[in-house]
Amino acid sequence: MSFGAPRLGLLAVVVLLHSACLMVPEEEVFEIEFVSGDGQIQGRERQLNEPVVVQALDEDGHPASGVELSFSTDPPSGSVDFNSVTTDSIGRASVWWTLGDLVGRQILTVRSRTLGAAISATARESDFDVHLVTDPGFTPEQVEAMRAGTERWTDVITGDIPDFRLPPDYRPPSRCLDAKKPTSGAIDDMRIEVRIRADLSAPMVLAFCEATESPVSLRPFWLYIQVTPSFVQRLHSESRLREWMAHTTGHGLGYGLFWGSLLHNPVDEAGVGADTHFPDPATVAAFDAAGGAAWTEGTKVPVENAEENRDIHWRGDVLGHEIMSSWYTMGMPGDNPPLSAITVQAMAALGYEVDVSMADPYTLPATGTMAEWDLEPHGPGGWPVHGEPAELIYDRGHIVGIVYR
Ligand SMILES: [Zn+2]
Repeated sequence: MSFGAPRLGLLAVVVLLHSACLMVPEEEVFEIEFVSGDGQIQGRERQLNEPVVVQALDEDGHPASGVELSFSTDPPSGSVDFNSVTTDSIGRASVWWTLGDLVGRQILTVRSRTLGAAISATARESDFDVHLVTDPGFTPEQVEAMRAGTERWTDVITGDIPDFRLPPDYRPPSRCLDAKKPTSGAIDDMRIEVRIRADLSAPMVLAFCEATESPVSLRPFWLYIQVTPSFVQRLHSESRLREWMAHTTGHGLGYGLFWGSLLHNPVDEAGVGADTHFPDPATVAAFDAAGGAAWTEGTKVPVENAEENRDIHWRGDVLGHEIMSSWYTMGMPGDNPPLSAITVQAMAALGYEVDVSMADPYTLPATGTMAEWDLEPHGPGGWPVHGEPAELIYDRGHIVGIVYR
């Protein structure tokens, strides 16, 4: 994007400091163009995940090399590692920006002698960081929807976990294909990459780029998600990108995939209908408070036992369209399934520091309504609750399940 020709909806704004000075000698910067690093989200007083990179252009639109650019912030917007950078042979200059202690939008100003441009970042209140890296094939609107889905978790998971520094010679495993190593060399606290690929055998394939250790352990995640163009189009046209990303981020955080001994009575290969449940006391208390006190059909909290996506979701016919239920897609398009206190407590059981007060209001669907719903025709747009199959791959590349969404 260009600061000289701002377009609607961009986070960057142009500040022409001395417009009269635009008629200047040839070596003067005529335009400061953004290359990468604007619009990032990070915790207060933390360095952004990616550097801010700009390019200076001359009157003819060619890179202006050897030009001094200044980078400055107001005190509430933190600081940069260098306040003055000379552009390189392709007219570029970059800085690392550490945010200030102000929740919300913070501003970094870049100036040449005659031009200025502002770049923004958003500081979240939570110290828990999710860094979403999206394929260039997504539109800004689609990226915004996916970001909203991941960021929902930073409202309820509030504690920082130690960063993971990748060894200098680290190469992602083959299941992660062209996963991009973080520029900073560190994962703080979770990295999610979403890539669009036309040649996938399933609409979606998930992989963890790091070898997992023991289940039920807190560690930074690097989740690599591949999706087909038609899957993206479908999610977008039905306004479900946000809910899909919120659900998928929950799995990335370990929901259903790293439960280990927290899960009881998983369904074995031949079995159907085991009394699969998640008996963590605080999670059960949240289930009871949401109306589950009257539920007597099994042991609490009931985990999906009858679908192909069993053992890794709340039981769909009991919890309805809660965000981590196997039936989370049953709501109307765009209605954002609730992230309930039940799920928040399940995250606490994994070891996360959480803020339960940030959970969405949620009550269990009335008994029987789910069974009826299952028999009804599919929802608007023909979105079936059982959806298309997607391979779920994690833990050293093994396919461990087929997820229908
Ligand atoms: Zn799922």
